[in-house]
Amino acid sequence: MQSLEQINLLVRNCTDCPLSNGRTNSVPGEGNPQADVMFIGEGPGYYEDLHGRPFVGRAGKLLGRLLASINLVREDVFIANMVKCRPPGNRDPALLR
Ligand code: SF4
Repeated sequence: MQSLEQINLLVRNCTDCPLSNGRTNSVPGEGNPQADVMFIGEGPGYYEDLHGRPFVGRAGKLLGRLLASINLVREDVFIANMVKCRPPGNRDPALLR
C-alpha cells in the first residue's frame, strides 16, 4: 500500500489526462490521515488550483464555518476532491474518449 505522501507526490506530478495541461497545481487531499470524517468535493476551483490545496476559496470558508459549528477544525478531518486538477472554467469533469 502507498502512503499518503507517495500518493501526494504521484498526484503532484501526474500527467495522465488532459486536465494536466491547464492546471497551475494539482490538488491532492490533505488533513488528518486518521480522521473519522472525510469531505470529498467534485474538483478544484480557481483558488484551489492556484494554491494546490483543497477547499481554500469560498467553499473553504463555508467548510470552516460548518466544521466550527460542530467543534472541529480542518486539521481534524481529511479533505479531498474526486478530480485532482481543475477542469477549464470549472466545467463538469468529462469522460476521456
Ligand atoms: S485530473 Fe487526475 S488523472 Fe488527470 S492529470 Fe490530474 S491527477 Fe492526473
